[in-house]
Order: sequence, then C-alpha cells, then structure tokens
Amino acid sequence: MTVYSGPVFEMATRQFGVIADHLSIPFDERDRLLMPKRAITVSCPIHRDDGTIAVFEGYRVQHHLTIGPTKGGTRFAPSVDIGEVAALAIWMSWKCALVGLPYGGAKGGVRVDLASISKRELEGLSRRYMQEMIPFVGPHTDVMAPDMGTNEQVMAWFMDTYSMYQGQTVTEIVTGKPVSSGGTLGRREATGRGVAYLARRVLNDLGINLGNATAVVQGFGNVGSYAALELQRYGLKVIAVSDHTGALHNAAGLDIPALARHAAEHGSIAGYSNELQYDPANILTLPCDVLVPAAMERVIDADTAAHLKCRVLAEGANGPTTPEADRVLEKRQDEVFVIPDILCNSGGVVVSYFEWVQDLQQLFWEEEEVTRREYHILDRAFDQMVARAKLDKIPHRTAAMAIGVEKVRAAKLTRGLFP
Ligand code: NAD
Repeated sequence: MTVYSGPVFEMATRQFGVIADHLSIPFDERDRLLMPKRAITVSCPIHRDDGTIAVFEGYRVQHHLTIGPTKGGTRFAPSVDIGEVAALAIWMSWKCALVGLPYGGAKGGVRVDLASISKRELEGLSRRYMQEMIPFVGPHTDVMAPDMGTNEQVMAWFMDTYSMYQGQTVTEIVTGKPVSSGGTLGRREATGRGVAYLARRVLNDLGINLGNATAVVQGFGNVGSYAALELQRYGLKVIAVSDHTGALHNAAGLDIPALARHAAEHGSIAGYSNELQYDPANILTLPCDVLVPAAMERVIDADTAAHLKCRVLAEGANGPTTPEADRVLEKRQDEVFVIPDILCNSGGVVVSYFEWVQDLQQLFWEEEEVTRREYHILDRAFDQMVARAKLDKIPHRTAAMAIGVEKVRAAKLTRGLFP
C-alpha cells in the first residue's frame, strides 16, 4: 500500500513491471524508477456565486527531475485522485523520454465536477490552484499544460496568477495557452493531429485506401475532435463519435466540422441529432479501420479487446487499454495494429515543448514549422518503436515503454541517487 494505491496507479505499476522484467532491471532499482519524486496535495477554497465558501482538493505529482523540468497536464474531473495523477505523471515520463524531450513527467488535477460550478467559480478555482502550487512549480522546475476538463482559458489564468506573483509576465510557466497570451500556433490541434497522422501512416503501410476507410472516435473534446477533423480531411469517413452525453452513428459518415461547431457552442454533442443517436456502450466494438479512444483511461478491458473490430487502435487518451486487454491484443497483433498512447498522443507534449522553447527564446514560429517538426519527431519515435518491437519480438506498447524507461534509467545511473 502507498498513498497512490488505486486502480490506475496499479495499472501503471503492472505495465512498468512488464518492462522492468523485459529489460532485466534489478529489483532494488525498480522503485527508484517508478515511484514519484514528489507529490503535493492542496486545498483550494473559493467563494461560490451564492456567497458561501467551497473547498476543492488539488494535486500535483512530479515523477522525476533527472533529465530537466517536469511537464504535464492538469485535469479537472470528479474522479481525480492522487493515484490517478501519479499514474499519469509516470506515463508522461516514459512518453517524454520516448520522443526525446528534456523533461520528466508530471501531472496535476483538481477533484471537481465542472457541471456544478460557474465560469466565475472556475476562474477562482484555477487561480487558487496555481497560487497554491507556486512554491513547487517554475519554468525550469515543472511546467503545466491542459488535460481533461482544462483548456486554453484555464492555462491563461494559471499563467496570469503565476506572473502576478513574480511581478512580470512569465509565459513559459504553462503551455497550451491562447496564442494571444504567448501560446504557439498548432498546439490546440497538436494531439489530435498527431493521432490522425500516425493512424494514416499505419493505414498507408497496411495498404488500406484512405478513401474507403472508416473511423470511430470515443470522446469529442480537444483530442477527439481534432483527431476526427483530421481523419476526415485525410478522406476517412468518421462513422461514430461519443462523449459523456451519448453517441452518434452514421454509416455514411458524420459531418465532423458541423459537429465540432455544435460541440464548441453547446459544450457537448447532445442535441445535435435525434436520428443519429447510438448506444455509447457499443461504440468501441463497431467495425472500422481506425478506432480512437480519446476520453479516459481503462475503457478497453480484456472482453472489449477480444471484440474490437478495428484494424488500427490509435490511443488518443492516456491509459485507455488495461494490462489484461494488452494480453488479448498481443495474441491479435496481426488483426489489430496498436499505436500505444505514449506514442500516439505525444504530439501534444511535443508541441507543448515547442511552445516552451519559443516562450523562452521569445521567437515564434509559423504553424507550418510547428507541424512539420511535430510529425518529424512522431515519425522518428514510430520507426524506433516498430524496429524495437521486431527486434525483441514484443508488442508495440512494451517496445515504446522500454525505450522510454531505458532512457530515464540511463540518466539516473549516470547522475547518481539525487535526481
Ligand atoms: P477534454 O476534456 O477536452 O475532452 C474529453 C472528452 O471525453 C469530452 O468530449 C468528454 O465528454 C468525453 N468523455 C468523458 N467521459 C466520457 C465517457 N464516459 N464516454 C465517452 N466520452 C467521454 O479532454 P482532452 O484534453 O481531449 O483529453 C482526452 C484524453 O486525452 C485524456 O485521457 C487525456 O489525458 C489525453 N491527452 C490529452 C492531451 C491534450 O493535449 N489535451 C494530450 C495527451 C493526452
């Protein structure tokens, strides 16, 4: 038992165990690689609109500071707990190392049901959370970004709160900011675009004609909506999408730009169409060429994995596939090509890194340069993952994580015990 114990942390631990066994990492070295360097829990009191005071619990976990500052998103959701945040921080570490960024992983979150607070209360909560984190973060210590339930506006409030404390504008304290406040072109779209780019690459490698291909997307927030838009732009028919309010299905293909406009205006896909409504419980097992889980973790268990009817599983969400499901998918490698989360959704942190670099240099790039560099890094990591999987005869996830873990381990071994 640790303070992190819970199903998501357990999943990250079991995944790490598989990698550590594969790499024959001595047992006395494993905790040092796995256990987070720091975990911070804070209380965030805010004034409610009705004059009462409410207190929300917030967390930040910094997994390791061996390679550089930590980097990771901030999640506002009712399910957030410190174990989930720690698992997400650990996955960020392997992800940053895999794609070659000079960061350790971090993650943060506030346990809050966003449907229960107003926009003014959300601003108060965002500012208070950052205020409480000021002693523990910094542009060279820990750099925050958006995740589920947070967006560019929340990042702007974080940046403003930190900057007011410093007495000067410090744009490089968070990434995923609005372009008007020091954000980079291409960050908003980066994660979804990267998911679609890698999925297209696999379809091309498999000889599947994009014009005849179909996609299904679970989750229609930042990642899911931009992945769907980009897949449609590549010529695929997006036949189903879902979010927390329900699902829509159209065998002829949904009009994704129209749906994205609706979701932006109303906050969800609810109310878009009565005729196209579909049971969200069945969305993951619809026959399709590309399945993009882009909502939350642990949605594909062993049973769902056995019934997947996609050719490519492009993991937009973090941790959507359980270790039990991985064992099923290992046996189905010739039927389902898995692009594991730490590679598939890494376009987000890659472009966050570009945003940080641009802010530090105060030199801003064209969107074309941002996207070109993003795809270059994704291609390089994809090639390395596939080559390693072939060489070691291991699944893609094991290969991707092994590359990440090896890099962190090498840095720890050469530096010594402190970082
Ligand atoms: P978001 O808050 O913008 O969107 C989340 C979406 O999931 C919403 O459409 C919500 O309605 C939907 N959803 C929630 N519960 C659902 C359910 N039970 N069934 C179906 N849909 C459900 O969040 P996001 O930033 O798009 O993040 C989504 C996932 O991608 C998370 O796992 C996150 O960690 C991961 N991720 C995000 C980024 C990023 O840049 N935003 C980068 C890497 C990974």
